[in-house]
Amino acid sequence: MTATPSTRPSHFIHEIIDEDLRTNRNGAGTQVATRFPPEPNGYLHIGHAKSICLNFGTARKYNGRCHLRMDDTNPTKEEQEYIDSIKQDVRWLGFDWGAHEYHASDYFEQLYQWALLFIKAGKAYVCDLTPEEVSKSRGSLTSPGKESPFRGRSVAENLDLFERMHKGEFPDGSHTLRAKIDMAHPNLNLRDPVMYRILHADHPRTGGKWCIYPMYDYAHGQSDWLEGITHSICTLEFEDHKPLYDWYIDQIASFGAAPPGIAYRPRQYEFARLNVTHMMMSKRKLLQLVQDKAVRGWDDPRMPTIAGIRRRGFTPESLRDFADRIGVAKRENTIEIELLEHCLREDLNKRAPRAMAVLRPLKVVIENYPQGQIEELDAVNNPEDPSAGTRKVPFGREIYIEQEDFAQVPPPKYFRLSPGKEVRLRWGYLITCTGVTKDPATGAIQELRCTYDPATRGGNAPDGRKVKATIHWVAAAQAVDAQVRLYDHLFTKDDPNDVPEGADWRSNINPKSLEVLTGCKVEPSLAAPTHANSASSRWTDGIARYQFERQGYFCVDAESTSDRLVFNRTVTLRDTWAKLAAKSD
Ligand code: ATP
Ligand code: MG
Repeated sequence: MTATPSTRPSHFIHEIIDEDLRTNRNGAGTQVATRFPPEPNGYLHIGHAKSICLNFGTARKYNGRCHLRMDDTNPTKEEQEYIDSIKQDVRWLGFDWGAHEYHASDYFEQLYQWALLFIKAGKAYVCDLTPEEVSKSRGSLTSPGKESPFRGRSVAENLDLFERMHKGEFPDGSHTLRAKIDMAHPNLNLRDPVMYRILHADHPRTGGKWCIYPMYDYAHGQSDWLEGITHSICTLEFEDHKPLYDWYIDQIASFGAAPPGIAYRPRQYEFARLNVTHMMMSKRKLLQLVQDKAVRGWDDPRMPTIAGIRRRGFTPESLRDFADRIGVAKRENTIEIELLEHCLREDLNKRAPRAMAVLRPLKVVIENYPQGQIEELDAVNNPEDPSAGTRKVPFGREIYIEQEDFAQVPPPKYFRLSPGKEVRLRWGYLITCTGVTKDPATGAIQELRCTYDPATRGGNAPDGRKVKATIHWVAAAQAVDAQVRLYDHLFTKDDPNDVPEGADWRSNINPKSLEVLTGCKVEPSLAAPTHANSASSRWTDGIARYQFERQGYFCVDAESTSDRLVFNRTVTLRDTWAKLAAKSD
């Protein structure tokens, strides 16, 4: 456990920046510059949200800047749809890159020119080994690699071949440009890594201009350098790549070809990637879920993608709070999903207007209530926020309550409705169950007969008699039909990748992660545009969110229309985080 609801962890990256600023490490007056560098080969997930909050949040804290850089070096996997979604997600989280939108592809020409300098300096060669042969000749942690038979090519021959690669004379996979470093280097990343490969593929930005593309490792460090990034914050798996980034930069500097006007180098700091229980964090596997139609799409509310989380009803505020609370760790760890939900509930509890919605309706006829009469009862919109005011809810002779709020034969400690028992209707009257109507054929309960006590408007009996249970309800005549979607974890196991030897991770998919309820009855204010509008003005993204009393927090789904209301349950009311935190103390 790394965080409890009340503590804020220490922040080693901010400590480093504080020290750098104190010592003017990058030169007096140099602005802190960070970047978020996604590869547009899928939708971003909550792990990326952590990285976004860290990079943009750090820039904000130090009055610096954060670049959004698409690491678009692999055109076969990258698509405009992903680029658009990434931008939407970063904005939704509340961050703005201003003028600082960049692409690794902006540097293709510069990287190419530098590659020529590597060849001329005898630091790179064209290799004819296939990708399989290259990886086989890499060696291992315990054994050195094998030098390529093409390593000794002359500068002239390399320049000629590289130029022909560039011109498109060779098929994919037939040649690569490799850095000439050391095939026995203890760090495998420095064993003559590939700098360029041939890909006859159109690029979302450069179109058909290139058929050779730089490898991520050859592009990344120099992109940071070109942009004047001061603190290059990334996840731990890049730690072993840092010496290679530095090697490329050192060589370029020694060629006298450093980017003009930049007196310092990017320095990389690694933090542990975020893992959250029950959530899959691999873009590749998320793509597989979408392709297999195991979910409805990238923005399925069960997905850990930012698009999915947004559609589910999470707020950007709660995600930023979550990112803050978990801080930055140097070692791999897994955060309980309950902490994420706790942050969400804290935010929604403060801001979400309350409403009444009956998910599994049971009709109740209040026999002594005058036929045709309608009353407007006052309901408090949010007991946590007096400024949210009150609203009117209609009440009449027929109402709906939840099926589970009635028991023909009440089990012990059941205080809700049962024959002869009295309960309080939220914001309304006390009612007593006097009878049950059943389907003569099946015996199923069709409706309840009740009486109300007219002296108890507002919920209190003048004689002071005690009524334990308060239940929610919706007036039948004014009720609006809605579909409500309830969600559970998409993966049953804490660790979605935890499967027995030989088994597929997909065997951990929860077959009951979605339950669709139709014929739900919601109070009319939820369909009235005025209420929906006033609710959505509280939310920066315009998605209306509510607390359905006793049922949890819900949001209006993207598919919802005024004719067909659809709600997603964002999260239940019960907070299990406090309990978990106590357990770990
Ligand atoms: P891929 O498998 O496609 O490389 P990726 O998750 O590493 O996937 P990138 O687009 O390369 O995706 O990631 C962009 C940035 O987000 C990187 O700086 C990466 O370190 C960071 N990031 C990715 N996953 C996580 C995570 N789980 N927690 C924190 N940061 C993450
Ligand atoms: Mg990556």
